[in-house]
Formats: sequence, structure tokens, C-alpha cells
Amino acid sequence: MTEERDEIAVVGAGLAGCLLACFLARRGYPVALYERRPDPRTGTVERGRSINLALSERGLDALRRIGLDGQVLADALPMRGRMVHPVSGEPQFQSYSASGDRAINSISRGALNNALLDAATALPGVRVAFDHRLVGLDPATGEMTFETPQGKVAATASVVLGADGAGSAVRGQLLAYGLLTESLDFLDYGYKELTIPPLGGDFALDPDALHIWPRGTSMMIALPNPDRSFTCTLFWPTHGTASFASLGSPAAIERHFAEHYPDLPPLAPNLVDDYQHNPVGVLGTVRCTPWQADGRVGLLGDAAHAIVPFYGQGANCAFEDVVELDRCLDECADDWSAALPLFQQRRQANAEAIARMALANFVEMRDKVASPLFQAGRKVEHALERALPGRYVSRYELVSFSTTPYAEVVRRVRRQHRVLGAVAAGAAALLAGAVGVAINRGRRR
Ligand SMILES: Cc1cc2nc3c(=O)[nH]c(=O)nc-3n(C[C@H](O)[C@H](O)[C@H](O)COP(=O)(O)OP(=O)(O)OC[C@H]3O[C@@H](n4cnc5c(N)ncnc54)[C@H](O)[C@@H]3O)c2cc1C
Repeated sequence: MTEERDEIAVVGAGLAGCLLACFLARRGYPVALYERRPDPRTGTVERGRSINLALSERGLDALRRIGLDGQVLADALPMRGRMVHPVSGEPQFQSYSASGDRAINSISRGALNNALLDAATALPGVRVAFDHRLVGLDPATGEMTFETPQGKVAATASVVLGADGAGSAVRGQLLAYGLLTESLDFLDYGYKELTIPPLGGDFALDPDALHIWPRGTSMMIALPNPDRSFTCTLFWPTHGTASFASLGSPAAIERHFAEHYPDLPPLAPNLVDDYQHNPVGVLGTVRCTPWQADGRVGLLGDAAHAIVPFYGQGANCAFEDVVELDRCLDECADDWSAALPLFQQRRQANAEAIARMALANFVEMRDKVASPLFQAGRKVEHALERALPGRYVSRYELVSFSTTPYAEVVRRVRRQHRVLGAVAAGAAALLAGAVGVAINRGRRR
């Protein structure tokens, strides 16, 4: 049956594209995977673009379905909570789960991509064309044009799927043909990677946690790597008096970190060099509609709905897309003209929900996590989760440790807050009544 199916083109051999190729090959489709870059397994990582990801249940669920979870987790480090670093004083650990034993997993995006590429290319029917940058697409015919080191190359496919990331060329082509509208909301924040190398052969910080330095208008995080280093990501406005643009000289960089992140400089000997030479990445939310054209061209992952990284969900959400598209193909008996619209119908509200939660989490991470009120609130939340198992579940647990659809997470958390609000109001009324009775009794005496 495999030979009978038409070839599907997947543009972008990133995280979503490679996983999608695996799922499609499993369905018996021949797959052509086109990637603008050279084979990452033979090249070097671009400076300051290593990125390690927090992989959680949604991503793992997708990997489990192709038997890749164990291999991927072997290269990952579990992080059971946040370690919050104040400007002065000792760092404080905040567990992610009520039980304290659930973890999100730090993994290098490159290592994950390579594992997925290996898995895809090991499957019969998957071929990868590296150094192929899509520059043209006729959505009506599926004819594609690629720029390659040898010049322009044409190819065609019955279905073209754009898994080519936030700046998707496939989305750009649909836009150019007037088949789609999009909105790109960039933050005035960017990000820069810095490194904490191993210290005396060991981790310089606790490797069990995601480290956060919340500083109100800026924030830094650090995730552990298997080589015992940490990759730090500094989030800061791109322009203005306190911004990436405001630190010109090595002395200014040293002064800034000594004042705002005093525990970092002793652990980061290459801080100034990293800061001066690593690029500033942009952050934003991509929205577009529709996600498909004529059942022949489709978008998924960041190409359809890139989000800011503050909930650690972009890749997890992209992997969940692949699972849902596979499910839609099942339900539509591989009729792409039915499956692609159904996929959008199922996923768009969820993508919007996590886009909003990710933006809201930026405020939580850069500001609230440091406040005693927030910390007390988390403790109450964990106590409620232990007291009402399965009935009260925090937003963080639902997003990171379950596959509850994101839009349902929002509704459920709202419901829980309403109930808690009513209980608190009832308790307050009872208390006020009791106090009133006591006062009246006192007056009568
Ligand atoms: C700083 C930062 C931290 C993050 N942290 C997390 C996290 O903790 N957890 C999490 O789940 N997510 C995280 N993310 C998000 C995550 O990286 C993305 O959501 C994920 O990579 C999306 O996968 P994708 O396959 O859709 O796109 P991408 O990974 O961007 O892959 C797109 C691929 O398409 C290729 N391509 C692009 N254009 C073309 C073209 N014209 N022709 C051919 N190929 C092309 C690219 O080279 C690339 O290989 C983070 C992102 C950032 C920026």
C-alpha cells in the first residue's frame, strides 16, 4: 500500500518537520523533507543559537508514539522546579508539582533535532534534501522552487506541509497569493545566550532545577546540559536606556552583571565575550488564518502559530500538532481536503490559548516569582492539589504535565478559581457572621 500513495513534501527539517516525516512514513506515505540548511549532524552550531528546550508531557507523548521518548530522555536532564536567584541572599527552590517529583526536561534543541532526523531518515520512504531553501510555491499545483548551492531546483508534490518555523516561507507564499492573513506581534524584548561552564568538572549550580533571575524589567534563566555546563538566556529590551543596546564596553557589561546578577560573573568566565559576540534573538507571536489552502498546502508548528518561549511550550505544542494531524488523517481516511481544515479547527483555539498563557507567564517569571505573596500562593495551590487530588490541578501542572488541550486548561483553571473564590467568600461570610454574633453577645453582657 505504501507505493500507491503520492509523495508528501514537508518543508523544514526542524523539530516539527522531522517528527511529521516519521508519522507520515508510518502511515505509508513517501515523504520528501526539504531543509534550507546543511545537514546539522555534520555541521557546527551557530554561535549563541544552541538553545536548550524544556521538553514536557505533550512533547514526550508525541515521541512515545514513535518509540523515541526513551532515547531522547537519555540525553535530557530533569528539572523538578525553579531555583529563584535574588540579587542578594540565597537562591530559593520552588517545586513545579505538588508531589515535588514531576519534572520538565532540559534538552539541547540540536540534539533533539538530530535524534528526530536520524529517526526520520531510518524510515523507508523518507528522503531529505538539505541546502534546499523554498523560495516559491504555487498553492494550486503544489509546484515548489528551491534555492540550492547548485542553483534553482523545481519539485512538486500532491500535498505541501510548511513546518518551516516562525518566518515560514510557505506561509509567506500563501500570503503572497492572498490565501491567508497574518499578524506578527514582536515583543520589545530580545534574548541573548550566555554560558556557565562546568566548575571543577561538576555543575556550577544545582542541575535539578531551571534557574531564574527575576529582575522586573529583565530576566535570565539557565538550563543544565549533559556536559555539566548551563546555557543561560538573558531576556531584556532591545532598545532604550536599560537594554541590550545600552551596554557598549566590557567595563559596562561587567558593572551591569555585578550589580544585577552578582552570582553570575564568578561562574561565567567568558561572560563579556559571550555578551559581545552572541546575537540578540527576536521574540514574538505569529497568528495567521487559514492554516491551509485547498487541502493541498498546510501549516503547522511555529509556521502556523509561533509563541514566546516563557511557558516552554513552543516545541511541545508543535509536537502536539503532529499528533493531532495524524489523528485527523485517521478520522478523514487520509482525505487531505477534509483533514487539514479539521486540524485547524481542532488546534487553532489551543494555539491561541498557549500563546496568551506564554505571554502572561513572562510577567510571572520576570517579576512575580520573587514575591513572597506569589510564593505563598504556590504553596496554597500545592496544598489544595494534595487535598483535592484530581479535582484541583494548577495551571502549571495542566500545561506541563498533562495533555489536556490548552484551551480546556484555561477554562478549567477559570472554573477552579471561581469555585475557590466562592468558597473563600462563603468562609469570609461565615467568619463575619460569627464575629458579629460574638460582638452582639459582648454588647448584651
Ligand atoms: C529562546 C527560546 C527558548 C525556547 N524554549 C522552549 C522550551 O523550553 N520548550 C519548548 O517547547 N519550546 C521552546 N522554544 C520554542 C521552540 O524552539 C519552537 O517552538 C520549535 O523549535 C518549533 O519547531 P518548528 O519545527 O515548528 O520550527 P523550527 O524548529 O524553527 O524549524 C523550522 C525548520 O525549517 C527550516 N526552514 C526555514 N525556512 C525554510 C525554507 N524557506 N526552506 C526550507 N527550510 C526552511 C529551518 O532551517 C528549520 O530547520 C524556545 C524558543 C526560543 C527562541
